[in-house]
Amino acid sequence: MKSSLNASLVNDPFGDPGLLVQFLFQKRALLFDLGDISSLSNAELLKVSHVFVSHTHIDHFIGFDRLLRTVFGREKTLTFFGPENFIKNVEGKLAGFTWNLVDRYEESLTIKVVEVREDKLLKGTFRAIEKFQISAEEEVDFKDGIILDDPMCVVRAAVLEHRVPCLGFSLQENLHVNINKDRLESMGAVEGAWLNDLKQAVLEGNPDSYEVEIPFNKDGNLSFEKNTLGQLKEDLIDISNGQKIGYVVDTIYNEPNSKRIIELVKSADIFFCESPFLADEEVRGQERFHLTSHQAGTLAREAQVKKLQVFHFSRRHMAHRERFYMESENAFRGNLEINTLAEN
Ligand SMILES: [Zn+2]
Ligand SMILES: [Zn+2]
Repeated sequence: MKSSLNASLVNDPFGDPGLLVQFLFQKRALLFDLGDISSLSNAELLKVSHVFVSHTHIDHFIGFDRLLRTVFGREKTLTFFGPENFIKNVEGKLAGFTWNLVDRYEESLTIKVVEVREDKLLKGTFRAIEKFQISAEEEVDFKDGIILDDPMCVVRAAVLEHRVPCLGFSLQENLHVNINKDRLESMGAVEGAWLNDLKQAVLEGNPDSYEVEIPFNKDGNLSFEKNTLGQLKEDLIDISNGQKIGYVVDTIYNEPNSKRIIELVKSADIFFCESPFLADEEVRGQERFHLTSHQAGTLAREAQVKKLQVFHFSRRHMAHRERFYMESENAFRGNLEINTLAEN
């Protein structure tokens, strides 16, 4: 299945957690968690439109300042999502700086914040031009777990347990439209901007009777013919479902939580799951409200994801990098007995 998304971890699995999801054909990216983001370039950060913060422990939120520094002074809107108390957390961050000179800037940054609660979304806006005083506060329903629904994708969140509420996320890329180049050639149509318009017309859900003007090159002469979207869908376009990405960090393994995670990341193409602890550290994991490698693999198996990528490894285990992969993969594939490997 073709996808126009590229998802990659911001850091090594022993570094701060974070996932950058880039839209390959747009100057746009989404960022999951905001820990140490020094490995990202300013150009990458400037593409970020939405930031999804699981919770505000320092390894997930210290990067806020770096991102703010990069985007400040630009005409740009950034939307941040986070768990209970998130609006206060962002307000506190912004209140840590002095903004008396903001009216000298011609371009103004707008920060929108969405706080995800069990049953509702709280919203607030902070504009640089208003010295980042909160405005436009509102409360809206939180339905079907959906926190973002835009032309490219739908992002869902689930409130998970980490002694504090912590958000798990899933991203479902919207249906994907590809032009079949071979059929385009055999039709004799000319490549050009109309193909993007055609893709857009499909993505926007226009009716099959919608007419599209197609440029043809006949004996060196450019001519145009109209055809319907319905016909072009049959003749020229391959439509596939987009990829699904799951992202879960900092949470405990127990029944209600597992249920929520499995429902959230069900059938994901790739599941990024934390694994701070090794398989034999279940007790420690429970005490710290974190998952083990084995639990990450079990969740991945039960959610029937296609691929698992574990990360957020405890630095105490720097020497055991391979064990995280092996133990989680064994649980994922159902080879549970192999997880009782002796300590290296
Ligand atoms: Zn945490
Ligand atoms: Zn963490």
